[in-house]
Amino acid sequence: MIDTHMHADSRSSEDFEKMYLAGIDTAITCSFYPYKIENETILLNHLNRILEYDTKRASEYGLDLKVALGIHPANTIENPETIYENLYSWIENNQIVAIGEIGLEDLTEREIAIFKQQLDIADETKSKVIIHTPRKNKKEVLKEIINIIPQHLDEKQAVIDHINPNVIDEAIKTDCMLGLTVQPQKMEAEDAISILDEYGFERFLLNSDISNKPSDPLSVPKTVRQLERLNYSKEDIEKVSHKNAEKYFKI
Ligand SMILES: [Zn+2]
Repeated sequence: MIDTHMHADSRSSEDFEKMYLAGIDTAITCSFYPYKIENETILLNHLNRILEYDTKRASEYGLDLKVALGIHPANTIENPETIYENLYSWIENNQIVAIGEIGLEDLTEREIAIFKQQLDIADETKSKVIIHTPRKNKKEVLKEIINIIPQHLDEKQAVIDHINPNVIDEAIKTDCMLGLTVQPQKMEAEDAISILDEYGFERFLLNSDISNKPSDPLSVPKTVRQLERLNYSKEDIEKVSHKNAEKYFKI
């Protein structure tokens, strides 16, 4: 199984072991710094820590961590140029599988500018992007994201993440890949399954988004097992359990 969106830096080694033992071979860990960011050096340290330290920590417990780096909308900084320069080099050296997570949260001017710039970098470097949608004002912010993406990037290169039953109608109209985050206080496995049941398994990726917030490191295997219990076809289940992610991120 592949968990397509998590935050390894805020989780314990015990979580990595649990995930691995439950059948997760690979996970994509994304950038998000949960504390105040004074300047770009703090953000750069966070990103380097994920790349160099958390990948090693997880591999000691069997979990193969792939990395997505970028400027999260809650981490927008005054001088993002250093981060952009590093993004080019991480992409060139195949150190990251996507730019992410990026996106919009409060729709500030700075957020929008940084989001657009990172979409342009993805376009230029032919990279994938993982796009966050917020808990509050999800519909309104998603609308803005859907409006901005095609002005900068082929929709097929973007994953719009944290899609739920309230916004699936809008998201499904795009050509983007869609992330289903099964997480306490966010979305239950039953809701993810109802979306897959209605819209098919082709366009979706599953993830736990485990972070410093209430999380379940086993939400992906639990959802996959539930799909098995409900007798969905093996072929469909494999798509969301790992095949879609393997193909999309070339991992
Ligand atoms: Zn996240």
